[in-house]
Amino acid sequence: LSPVPSDIEISRGQTPKAVDVLAKEIGLLADEIEIYGKSKAKVRLSVLERLKNQADGKYVLVAGITPTPLGEGKSTVTIGLVQALTAHLNVNSFACLRQPSQGPTFGVKGGAAGGGYAQVIPMEEFNLHLTGDIHAITAANNLLAAAIDTRILHENTQTDKALYNRLVPLVNGVREFSEIQLARLKKLGINKTDPSTLTEEEVSKFARLDINPSTITWQRVLDTNDRFLRKITIGQGNTEKGYSRQAQFDIAVASEIMAVLALTDSLTDMKARLGRMVVASDKSGQPVTADDLGVTGALTVLMKDAIKPNLMQTLEGTPVFVHAGPFANIAHGNSSVLADKIALKLVGEEGFVVTEAGFGADIGMEKFFNIKCRASGLVPNVVVLVATVRALKMHGGGPSVSAHIAFLNIQLVADGCCNLQKQIQIAQLFGVPVVVALNVFKTDTRAEVDLVCELAKRAGAFDAVPCYHWSVGGKGSVDLARAVREAASKRSRFQFLYDVQVRSIVDKIRTIAQAVYGAKDIELSPEAQAKIDRYTQQGFGNLPICMAKTHLSLSHQPDKKGVPRDFILPISDVRASIGAGFIYPLVGTMSTMPGLPTRPCFYDIDLDTKTEQVKGLF
Ligand code: ADP
Repeated sequence: LSPVPSDIEISRGQTPKAVDVLAKEIGLLADEIEIYGKSKAKVRLSVLERLKNQADGKYVLVAGITPTPLGEGKSTVTIGLVQALTAHLNVNSFACLRQPSQGPTFGVKGGAAGGGYAQVIPMEEFNLHLTGDIHAITAANNLLAAAIDTRILHENTQTDKALYNRLVPLVNGVREFSEIQLARLKKLGINKTDPSTLTEEEVSKFARLDINPSTITWQRVLDTNDRFLRKITIGQGNTEKGYSRQAQFDIAVASEIMAVLALTDSLTDMKARLGRMVVASDKSGQPVTADDLGVTGALTVLMKDAIKPNLMQTLEGTPVFVHAGPFANIAHGNSSVLADKIALKLVGEEGFVVTEAGFGADIGMEKFFNIKCRASGLVPNVVVLVATVRALKMHGGGPSVSAHIAFLNIQLVADGCCNLQKQIQIAQLFGVPVVVALNVFKTDTRAEVDLVCELAKRAGAFDAVPCYHWSVGGKGSVDLARAVREAASKRSRFQFLYDVQVRSIVDKIRTIAQAVYGAKDIELSPEAQAKIDRYTQQGFGNLPICMAKTHLSLSHQPDKKGVPRDFILPISDVRASIGAGFIYPLVGTMSTMPGLPTRPCFYDIDLDTKTEQVKGLF
C-alpha cells in the first residue's frame, strides 16, 4: 500500500500460518517442535542429530555501516532478503535474528522485527516476551548473583564445620559429594570421594571460597533501561550484618549467560560453560566459578528451554529463528550458533541462511567472525553490508541525530561514503565477499542511490544494489538476492583477524583497535592493566576479545562520524567472560546499562482493552 502503513498495522494485516504447518513445510518432524501459542514454537536440538549427514547451506551475514541512533535497516534487509530468496527466487532460506531487548523496545530504538513489508510476524509476540528466554537468563543470572553475596555472608558468620555440614547434603542418609564438589576437591588438591575421611584442615579448605568482595565481577541484570541501577549499594538491611558493598545492574542481554546461550552447541556444552563462569577471585587470587558456588545444575535447569531456538515466520511465510540477544556494543550481539546450525541443515546444500550481526561491521561483524565463527567452526560465504543515504549524509557532515536529511545534498552523500568504504575494507580483512545493500527510503533520489552503489563497487564490494523490501516486500529485494547468490558461488577465503593462542590480550585488543577501528594506538587504564595481568596469570590469556564500544562511531567518541583518524582508544576496564569464552574490554565511558530518553517509546505503547490489540510498537 502507499503510503506504507505503520509496522504494527502491516503485521496485523497478515494472518500467520499455524506454526506446526510452517514446521512441516521446512522439514521438521512433529516431535521436534514444542508449540507456544499459535505462531511460535521451540525447536528441539535432536533435529541436529537426525540431520547430521545433511550438507550445510550457504551462510550469509548481514552487517552495516556505522548507524544513526535509529538503525539503518539490518533486520529489515535480513527479512527482505529471505523473502526475496524463498518467495520470489524459489530458493530455500532461513533468517536467524536476535530477540529484542525490552530496553530499546520501550526506550529509544523500538523493537527489532524489521519494518514495513519486511517483518517477522506477529511483531508484538516477537518484540515482547517471545517464549521467555530473556526472562530465563535474568533469573539464572540473578540466582548466581544472590549465591555470591549470600555465600560471603554465611562464610563470615558460620564455623568451618557448620558451613561444611550444610554444603555436603544428606542424600538418603548417606553423605555424598556432588560431581561439581568432587571437581572442586580435586582443584584444591584433595583426592578424596568419601566426605567422612576429610581432615579438619581439608574441611575448612573445602568449606570456604574466601571470595574477595572487591574482585566480584558478576553483576545483577534487568531487561529495562534503568540508569538508576548503574551504581547501587547492596546489603543495607540489618539482617545482612554490615556485608554491604557497591554493585551495579547491567541490561539482561549483556549477561554472560546470554553469550553462553548464543555460543553453545549442546546442553552438555552449555552446562560446562555455565559452570566455568568466573564471578570473582578468592583472597589468594584464584578464580571462583559458578561450579565452586554449587549453582551450575540450577542454572542449567533455568536455561533448559531457552537453549532451543524459537521458530517464527516472515510476512511472506518464510521461516525465521529468533534466538539469543542483541547489543553488539556491550555484548557480542549475535544470534545463536544453534539456530544457525539447525537452519543450515534445514535449508539443504542449495539453500541460504541469513544471520544478522548488530550495529556497524566494526563491532557486530568483527565479533561474529572472531568470536562466533571461532566457537561454531562455521565458515561464512557472503557479507551483506547495509547502508542508508540518511546515515551517509550524517557521516558526510550532516546532523547526527536526524530521522532523515530529506534534501538533495549529493556532496554530503559522497563525503559520507568514506564510512561505507572503511566498513567494506573491514569485511575484506576477513576474506569474505561483500555485497552492499542500499536500503532505500522514499525521499532518496536516483542520483544519491546511483552514487552510493558506484562508490561501493569502487571500494571493492562484489556488488552494490538498491533494496525496496521495506515498501514492497520481498520482490523489492530480488536484485539483492541474485547478487548474494552470485557472491556465494565464489570460494570464501575466510580467515580470523588474530590468532588467539599466540597473541597476548593487549596485542589482540591493539590489533582490533588499529586494523578495524583505525586507531593510532590503545591506552590502558591502571585498572584495565591490573585485570589483564590477573586474567593472564589465571590462564585466560588465550581467549578472543569482545570489545564494549559505542556503535555510533568507529572510534570511542559517538560524535566522531565518518572515518575518525589519529585517535588513541582508551580501555577503561576489562572483564572476563570465561564461560562464554572471551575477554571483555570496556572502551572509554561505555555503560553496560542504558538509560531512557525524555520521550521514550513507551509513551506511544498502549493496549486496546476491548480487542486486546497492542498499539504503538514498531
Ligand atoms: P537495524 O536492524 O539496522 O537496527 P531495522 O531494520 O530495525 O534496523 O530498522 C530500523 C527502523 O527503520 C525500523 O523501524 C524500520 O521500520 C525503519 N526502516 C528500515 N528501512 C526503512 C525504509 N527503507 N524506509 C522507511 N523506514 C525504514
